[in-house]
Amino acid sequence: MKKTALLAALLLATPLLAQPGPRGGQGNGPGAGAGAPAAPAASPFVTYFASLPKEPLGSAEAAEIAFLREEEKLARDVYRALFAAHGDRAFANIAAAEQRHMDLVKLLLDRYELADPAAATAPGEFEDARLAALYTDLVAKGKVSLVEALKVGATIEDLDLADLAKALAASDNRDVDAVMQNLAKGSRNHLRAFAGRLQALGAPYAARYLPADDVAAILAAPRERGAVDEIGKLLPGTGPGLGRMGRGRGPGAGAGNGTGTCDGTGPGAGTGPGAGFGPGDGTGAGCPNR
Ligand code: ZN
Ligand code: ZN
Repeated sequence: MKKTALLAALLLATPLLAQPGPRGGQGNGPGAGAGAPAAPAASPFVTYFASLPKEPLGSAEAAEIAFLREEEKLARDVYRALFAAHGDRAFANIAAAEQRHMDLVKLLLDRYELADPAAATAPGEFEDARLAALYTDLVAKGKVSLVEALKVGATIEDLDLADLAKALAASDNRDVDAVMQNLAKGSRNHLRAFAGRLQALGAPYAARYLPADDVAAILAAPRERGAVDEIGKLLPGTGPGLGRMGRGRGPGAGAGNGTGTCDGTGPGAGTGPGAGFGPGDGTGAGCPNR
């Protein structure tokens, strides 16, 4: 997608709160209220997920979904324990991401009316015996030092990616695949985060579950942003930069002249004439597409 088109798509996805744009602007957009509603909408992924057909689910697929729910819980619970042990923010941040991954799998459990194995289990408790054993083992290893904790983090992401690759190969339901693609995208980012820290500390991560070449390729690629569909393609309106732009206050009534700040906090977040409300074309000075 061309950068300007992507920027326009991002702006269109930004909730509009009709803040005035910079004074002296020369925009001629159609005015506040012409764009997307300001009410908080479901995330683009949830909207996309809801649009996918509900397809027959085999018993193996149902079991895989239940397993993934607990595997995401393993990541969340281990990272919470390691944050408690070391106070390193990476573990708190990634634990929060794992909660979102658990929520994604829950979409599938609910849709197919499957029992939730993580409904009420306490931290570190799992129905799957292998995951329960891993929790005990990995928390004990990770408590030894920050480097060991980062190794544990990379190991969990490595394991998740290996399991997801198998599960994706076995699944043919679009909704199931879409959830798994987003889990995998998140895991690749987490692997980059943990392995990057290890590299900086002089203790590069050695692959344990994925082929070493696959891990090297993931680490060589940049961080991925946005939500993806069932084949891993970026969903419109969720691309790079949305995280920051999406917190902006909206460009107001067509007054933005492209001089606003680009960090999503200032009034000029939507810049060119008319951009950000309705059919703006995002051709103003524009913010860097971050
Ligand atoms: Zn995850
Ligand atoms: Zn992860």
